[in-house]
Amino acid sequence: AARSSLPAFNGSGATSDGHHVPLLANVGSGKDARAAAEAGAEGIGLLRTEFCFLGRDTEPTIEEQVAAYGAVFEAFPGRKVVIRTLDAGADKPLPFLTDATEPNPALGVRGFRTDRTSPGVLARQLEAIAAAAGAHTADVWVMAPMISTAEEAADFAVMCAGAGLGMPGVMVEVPAAAIMSEAVLSRVRFASLGTNDLTQYTMASDRQLGSLASLNDPWQPAVLQLISATVAGAARATALEPASGARTVGVCGEAAADPALAVVLAGMGVNTLSMTPRALSGVGAVLESVTLEQAKELASRALAAHTAAEARTIVRSRLPILEQLG
Ligand code: PEP
Ligand code: MG
Repeated sequence: AARSSLPAFNGSGATSDGHHVPLLANVGSGKDARAAAEAGAEGIGLLRTEFCFLGRDTEPTIEEQVAAYGAVFEAFPGRKVVIRTLDAGADKPLPFLTDATEPNPALGVRGFRTDRTSPGVLARQLEAIAAAAGAHTADVWVMAPMISTAEEAADFAVMCAGAGLGMPGVMVEVPAAAIMSEAVLSRVRFASLGTNDLTQYTMASDRQLGSLASLNDPWQPAVLQLISATVAGAARATALEPASGARTVGVCGEAAADPALAVVLAGMGVNTLSMTPRALSGVGAVLESVTLEQAKELASRALAAHTAAEARTIVRSRLPILEQLG
């Protein structure tokens, strides 16, 4: 086997009784994508496209974007690659798109909202994604960040259809979208929970402030409730309109890289987990140590907890394999 600097995860994410939970990678470049493939990721659950836009003061051309996205798709032939459209603003400012004088950038024009203030950038990005997808065999899904309403989800689906992209989805990282998951998911095909921002906005605590780390904790009961509500809403959206296929819900925030929380997420009915490649082997091992029934039991115990510490302690104490992982 090829030597790798990352611990290898070989096979596919599953509980001990064979419930498949694909373990995907979060990547931000073609180089990252090749490393993720080498680490055994089953696909990409979050391609952050900011890499193509950062550190420059003009929009990259469509040709530049096609080459950048193509380098990622190329690393996962025939596999699922979820690409996120540009998430400029707040912690990812871009000189030609974001207004540096906004008083509250995290609550400002960021993510999908930049399509209102700088129309055209997103449409050109979708055109580039479609062109790159057409030149590769990867199964390309496209999602928009910072979606807050069903109308925004519908608008994004229309833009994707216009570009010839058949798998539109949204990130659920704003509490409003989690609460309204059924309505949001009746407009698109899938959701991916961005637990970093979902936690920040639920707890009203800046994700960049280390001093607020105990609030910025995805084990917080309010965050767990919103994740569970998102999954339930997705199931209702599927039941209302089964002809458009099951609405899947993934997690692509840091929560998916915490092996104990990953088991809870799988038990809640989350379909895929996407994480930094170095977390794949640990999450895979802990997932494999439980049955689906046990994962569901841990999820209901976590959801019944009143504090983050209680949820974490209850779940961790029931996963003895964590001690071996260190
Ligand atoms: C998130 O918010 O959880 C997420 C995955 O996106 P980012 O960290 O890029 O905002
Ligand atoms: Mg986010």
